[in-house]
Amino acid sequence: MALATSTSSSIPSHSFLTRDSDAAAAIRHAKPSSVPQAVSGGSRLRRIVARPCRAVEPAKRNDWAVETAVAAAEGLALDWEELDKELKNASPLEIMDSALRIFGNEIAIAFSGAEDVALIEYAKLTGRPYRVFSLDTGRLNRETYRFFDAVEKHYGIHIEYSFPDAGEVQALVRTKGLFSFYQDGHQECCSVRKVRPLRRMLRGVRAWITGQRKDQSPGTRSDTPVVQVDPVFEGVDGAGSLIKWNPVANVDGKDLWNFLRSMDVPVNSLHSQGYVSIGCEPCTRPVLPGQHEREGRWWWEDANAKECGLHNRHLQTNDAANRLTVNGVSTRADIFETAAVVSLTRPGIENLLRLRKRQEAWLVVLYAPWCRFCQAMEASYLELAGELAGTGIKVGKFRADGEQKPFAQKELQLGSFPTILFFPKNTSKPIKYPSERRDADSLVSFVKALT
Ligand code: SF4
Repeated sequence: MALATSTSSSIPSHSFLTRDSDAAAAIRHAKPSSVPQAVSGGSRLRRIVARPCRAVEPAKRNDWAVETAVAAAEGLALDWEELDKELKNASPLEIMDSALRIFGNEIAIAFSGAEDVALIEYAKLTGRPYRVFSLDTGRLNRETYRFFDAVEKHYGIHIEYSFPDAGEVQALVRTKGLFSFYQDGHQECCSVRKVRPLRRMLRGVRAWITGQRKDQSPGTRSDTPVVQVDPVFEGVDGAGSLIKWNPVANVDGKDLWNFLRSMDVPVNSLHSQGYVSIGCEPCTRPVLPGQHEREGRWWWEDANAKECGLHNRHLQTNDAANRLTVNGVSTRADIFETAAVVSLTRPGIENLLRLRKRQEAWLVVLYAPWCRFCQAMEASYLELAGELAGTGIKVGKFRADGEQKPFAQKELQLGSFPTILFFPKNTSKPIKYPSERRDADSLVSFVKALT
């Protein structure tokens, strides 16, 4: 694979691990018996891990590439947690330089077509060769395609595009249509168009570089490390071997934009139309002043669950914990536990369905206690129940997983959890709440519009 190179930059010399003790702490020996004598003396460690950052001519770069290869061959492995601590206060440029120095052409920058173009600029500034890849989901804005082209020309690089499997896209679209994510969440489409192509791409490298920042998502990115063993994907050496670098993890969005402006870096024209975070066209929209940038992505879903699967360690962990079962029965405690929410049994909800005229209107959530989306709306649903108390509108819940699921799918319009139904007083058919905005105000507005 051809590498992009730059010969124009020169950056100050920095050493993150300048003492032997630091270097020793940051390196573990996967195969102690294979470590040569020089390593235990410390000097070799410093050559591999703590070499000062210096921009040199590409033609002279073979030395670090050789070092990396030698390190791998000798069974040396960095202690990534230790290195993360060492790099905590390093600049994005220093972190980028470390990543490229250690991994050579076995690392690639993930570029989404947004402000993560800063990563490419930092890579260029290191003066080292670098690779850039991107996921073409087939649903990007035309502005983003134009931007990809502009970036390739500006930096003189070829972006390595990954595409979804045509058969998988065909099966999804033929079965569920082009916009199924508005009905049952974005995970399935993202899985086909983003996650699997990414997985295939990452199986060809040993490390990747992302533009993840802590300030991007309140629920899912607040503890993003600078460098880590990737908790989700695997690289060329299998599970637990892929290293993920996040050079701008600690950078504030405003500072990143100052950097882009100062360096006169080309940017996606969507930004001037109010877009902050940029993804696929149907799932991204501009945000208003004061809105968080992630509110422009999958806006119909809960703010704490907005990951497309590319970085979703937290969500996966929660799912695993929540799905613990004993003899097929979820052991997770029930949710929506309050006197203001009536727990309906199967006969109870069947009765509600049968009544043509009800004494009271009902709002009922179909839920599963292990479902993270149900958990995420628990507080707002309880708040709603409090607000509706005494108004003549009952608030209920029906646990619709397990053996109740086929019934709920057939009779209660259950698509995914949670599904919220309103049973009006004088209409037999329940009305399904169409939005994924599940805050108390939105739900109250829905109920008021129907009563
Ligand atoms: Fe599909 Fe939207 Fe995900 Fe793009 S962001 S892959 S269109 S669900």
